[in-house]
Amino acid sequence: MRTSQLFISTKKEAPAEAELLSHKLMLRAGLIKRLGSGLYTWMPLGLRVLRKVEAVVRSEMNTAGAQELLMPAVQPAELWQETGRWDVFGPQMLKITDRHERQFCFGPTHEEVITDIARSELRSYKQLPANFYQVQTKFRDEIRPRFGVMRAREFMMKDAYSFHASFESLQQTYDVMYGAYSKVFTRLGLQFRAVAADTGAIGGSGSHEFHVLADAGEDLLAYCPTTDYAANVELAEAFAPSAPRAAAAAAMTEVDTPKQTACADVAALLGVGVERTVKAIALVTVAGEFVLALLRGDHNLNEVKIAKLEGMADFRFASDDEIRAALLCPPGFIGPVGINADIRVIADLTVAAMSDFICGANKPKLHLSGVNFGRDLPEPHIVADIRNVMNGDVCPDGKGGVLELCRGIEVGHIFQLRTKYSEAMNCVFVTEQNTQQAMEMGCYGIGVSRIVAAAIEQNHDAKGIIWPAAMAPFSVAVVAVGYHKSEAVKAAADQLYAQLLAAGVDVLLDDRNERPGSMFADMELIGIPHRVTIGDKALAEGMVEYVARREGEMKKIALSEALEWIQ
Ligand code: ATP
Ligand code: MG
Ligand code: MG
Ligand code: MG
Repeated sequence: MRTSQLFISTKKEAPAEAELLSHKLMLRAGLIKRLGSGLYTWMPLGLRVLRKVEAVVRSEMNTAGAQELLMPAVQPAELWQETGRWDVFGPQMLKITDRHERQFCFGPTHEEVITDIARSELRSYKQLPANFYQVQTKFRDEIRPRFGVMRAREFMMKDAYSFHASFESLQQTYDVMYGAYSKVFTRLGLQFRAVAADTGAIGGSGSHEFHVLADAGEDLLAYCPTTDYAANVELAEAFAPSAPRAAAAAAMTEVDTPKQTACADVAALLGVGVERTVKAIALVTVAGEFVLALLRGDHNLNEVKIAKLEGMADFRFASDDEIRAALLCPPGFIGPVGINADIRVIADLTVAAMSDFICGANKPKLHLSGVNFGRDLPEPHIVADIRNVMNGDVCPDGKGGVLELCRGIEVGHIFQLRTKYSEAMNCVFVTEQNTQQAMEMGCYGIGVSRIVAAAIEQNHDAKGIIWPAAMAPFSVAVVAVGYHKSEAVKAAADQLYAQLLAAGVDVLLDDRNERPGSMFADMELIGIPHRVTIGDKALAEGMVEYVARREGEMKKIALSEALEWIQ
């Protein structure tokens, strides 16, 4: 393409609202344009980058055996009511009403829709396993949309969903997808790390996140440089006695007092950090059984979680006062939290008060078991690992490494959903023995648009973006200095451009009538990996100038060798 045909809109300054470097550079390079809070247009140059990321993702998904489909972005409420997520997903879900007063949401994710497809299309074990993916626009009404496309409200996700006749089959596909994710981020030229992760509002058991490593990342990761061990501290937080995020490192080595341990145990059981923003913790009865329910409204999700309390059968509370007295909680704590009509709320508590009640010295020791509403507890081995970290031991794998911390940007997340959705939605298949069984499920997300910003966080300098080869909007810029004044420059530039195009190189010919300095600055800001400058002076000696964006050093090469040099 020629710059004379390409919409380029570079700026010297970024708008004041852009805090993060990648956001500033994306705006300055004219890759995106803001429409509203968390809403961005991908301008032609930016869209080229997004499409390159998509191409790598698609190629690895196809290789992994996933099939592409495209589901509607708008989804009927009824499906979400089947799994209960209509009420528990929280304010991140944008709900809409049509002219017939029917309720819909703009899909924040697609487990319900794909499970609806699977239950009607996949009937027999012979059709399993099956793996489907799409690259599609999602909407999440993020509480704090920021950093441009890094945390947008409307964003592009690749989401895949797999269906299986057995857990072994799920595990196999999970491993294949794990490998495919590693290939995607390697091909994109990014430094990344896979970590054990929390399952959040999606739910399920095993889970890994893929993080692009960058100081600007919102997530804190614990990893062992000498072994494979790595986990998101978000997961570790649940087990740390006191863990505001920034202090997680210190908290992990703090020595527990019994009270803190109790508190951490309760928090762990509920899958939250002790000091996380918890909207309400309640002792409730569900179908006559005592359970702990948690309504959590943290930075990005809002869910109900329920843990069964065993040993409560002897408790009979007659009045609110009695409950208050039994729980040693101050007046005003008791009140409905409005989870759901089937659930009778007994008391509203803080994590600390609840742990006092369960584990306090003068209270009955109650046994906590079984958590399955919003999601499951982390795998037992992860719990053990994180406890070791808290105790200041060595890397949890026992090989003597020492854990280190770094920051990451979550660009991918894979989950073993098991039968959470298939059971709720009656997604069953006929087994070889002619019985019916709920399908095992996995799901696999990649933040396609977030990757673009994450790549810039890792690849930039004072002059602008430095694209990894696979993501660059163009591989080569041919800058023709004096294209409109010099016949020789025009002829040489047109010829090299044609040769590069014919060789399949993604080339941009800068044929603008601009000062050389501003043409160079634009190509540097935009981040094109290779630049060939054609000007009268060098051309007189049959030479052109070559600069690799990352190294920045100028080399003179013969025009006749330019094509070969670049390839
Ligand atoms: P985060 O922790 O950053 O809020 P998430 O855990 O809520 O992300 P998932 O449900 O795991 O996100 O979705 C899969 C992927 O979609 C994430 O790994 C991330 O790369 C991307 N993603 C999620 N939310 C956003 C967003 N608001 N803007 C851009 N990309 C996003
Ligand atoms: Mg989120
Ligand atoms: Mg996350
Ligand atoms: Mg996630």
